[in-house]
Amino acid sequence: MINCNLCEGEVEKKLVSVEREWNGKKIVIKDVPAVVCEDCGKRYFDAETTLKMADVIPGFVHNYGGWFRVQEG
Ligand SMILES: [Zn+2]
Repeated sequence: MINCNLCEGEVEKKLVSVEREWNGKKIVIKDVPAVVCEDCGKRYFDAETTLKMADVIPGFVHNYGGWFRVQEG
């Protein structure tokens, strides 16, 4: 496992919630796999996850096999 690029702290794999703006609405994408720094809280996402998050919109989630749960907020 890598260490944090910012503070070189220990990182841990976690599922996190990510807030995004879509179509003027704020959405929350739940259960996103990330690597989180335990010291500074910096989140790292792999390329596949970043791509999925860029594409994710309500109703489109099924294309990803329910990998994301999206909540409008
Ligand atoms: Zn850190």
